[in-house]
Amino acid sequence: MIGAGAVGAGTAWHLACQGHRVTLIDPCLAESINHKNSHHEPLNGTDASLGVLMGHIFRRSSGRAWRLRQRSMELWPKWVEKLNHPETPLHLDTPLIQLASGPEEAERMQSLAKQRIELGLEYFTSANTSSRHLPWPNPGYGGLRSQNDGRVDPLALQRALRRSLERKKVSLLASRVKSLHRPNDRDDTHWRVELDTGDITHCHCVVVCTALASNLLLNPLGHSLPMAAVLGQVLDLQVSAPATSWDHWPAVLVCAGVNLIRHSKDQLLLGATLEEGEQPSAHEPLIMRRLGGLAPNWLLQAEVVDHWHGLRARPSGRPAPLLEVLEQGLILASGHYRNGVLLAPATAEWVQHQINIESITLQK
Ligand SMILES: Cc1cc2nc3c(=O)[nH]c(=O)nc-3n(C[C@H](O)[C@H](O)[C@H](O)COP(=O)(O)OP(=O)(O)OC[C@H]3O[C@@H](n4cnc5c(N)ncnc54)[C@H](O)[C@@H]3O)c2cc1C
Repeated sequence: MIGAGAVGAGTAWHLACQGHRVTLIDPCLAESINHKNSHHEPLNGTDASLGVLMGHIFRRSSGRAWRLRQRSMELWPKWVEKLNHPETPLHLDTPLIQLASGPEEAERMQSLAKQRIELGLEYFTSANTSSRHLPWPNPGYGGLRSQNDGRVDPLALQRALRRSLERKKVSLLASRVKSLHRPNDRDDTHWRVELDTGDITHCHCVVVCTALASNLLLNPLGHSLPMAAVLGQVLDLQVSAPATSWDHWPAVLVCAGVNLIRHSKDQLLLGATLEEGEQPSAHEPLIMRRLGGLAPNWLLQAEVVDHWHGLRARPSGRPAPLLEVLEQGLILASGHYRNGVLLAPATAEWVQHQINIESITLQK
C-alpha cells in the first residue's frame, strides 16, 4: 500500500483484518498525528479534512457514487466500533443539518426526505422548527435533518488506524516511493517498489493511494490519470455565542454550502473553501465566513485561532474517485476529491474484492 491518508491507511487496516500481509509506505508515518501547525504548506487531504460524512443526504439515488456512499455509511458504524479504543478514541458524531438556501432547494429537500425516511432524513420548515431542530441561524426556508449523517474527526481516525495497524502487525515504512517496476518475467509475480532510501520492497500487489501524487508513480508505467488540485481552507474560530445558540447544535451544520462544526465548548470549525490551484486566496475565507449573508454577528466577530489549507485530488474529465485495476498486481484507489474520508470504508472493501479476484486468477 502506498500512501497513508484515510484511504491508504484504512485500506491497509481492512486488508490486514482479512488476513492479508500488508506493508504501508508513506513518509508521513515518521510523524506523530497532531499537526495543524503548517499554515504555509498545504496539508495532505486527510489532515486538512473536516471528516464530514454526507452519505444519505446525497442528491442522486443511483449510480456508482450513490452506491459507494451507501456502502460506506453502512460500514462506518462498524469501523468506528472496531477502531475505537481508550488510547485512541473514535466517535461517529450525528446528526447533520443542511439549511435550504431558497425555495427551490427547500422543495427538493422536501421530496428527498419523503423518499428517504427509512435512511433517517426529515424535512423541517421554519414554521415547525422546534428546539430539537435548530435555534440558529433563522432557518428561513427550512432544511434537512439527516439523523445518520455526521462526522468522524479525521485526526482521531488516523490515530486509531495507526494503533490498529501496529496491532495487526502491518509493516509501516516511513519512506517515499521513488518508482514502481513490473515483475521481470512471466515466472516472477513480484512488483518491485523502489524507495527514496534506495531500498527495494517486493510484493504481489501494489495499491496506489497517493492522491495528487499518483500520476508521478503511474506515468512512467504508461498510465495517465491526470488530477487537478482543488484547495480548501478551514478556519478554527473562538466564538462567544449566546448560550442558546449552542443548544441542540448538530454534529455538522451546513449553511450556504459551508460546514460549521462545534468541536469544543466555544470553538467552531468553518470550512471549506473550493479554490482551483494550489495557492490559497486571502478573500475566500472572508466570503465563506459570511455564509451568504446569514452569519450572525457573533460569528463574524469571532477570533480566528487557527487556519489551514489542504489539497483535494479531483480527477480530470472523469468522476471521482478513481478505482481501477490498471494491470495485474497494480491497483489505483485515488482521486477521492471531496469525499475521501466518507468513502474510505467502501474503497477498502472494493480493493479487497479486486485482490481476491486477482489471487483466484493467479491460482488457476
Ligand atoms: C479542506 C478540506 C476539507 C475536506 N473535508 C472533507 C470532508 O469533510 N469529508 C470527506 O470525506 N472528505 C473531505 N475532504 C477530502 C478528503 O480529505 C480527501 O478526499 C481524502 O483525504 C483523500 O485521502 P487520501 O488517503 O486519498 O489522500 P491523502 O490524505 O492526501 O494522503 C495521500 C498520502 O500519500 C502520501 N504520498 C504521496 N506520494 C507518495 C509517495 N511517492 N510515496 C509514499 N507516500 C506518498 C502522502 O504523504 C499522503 O500522506 C476535504 C479535503 C480538504 C482539503
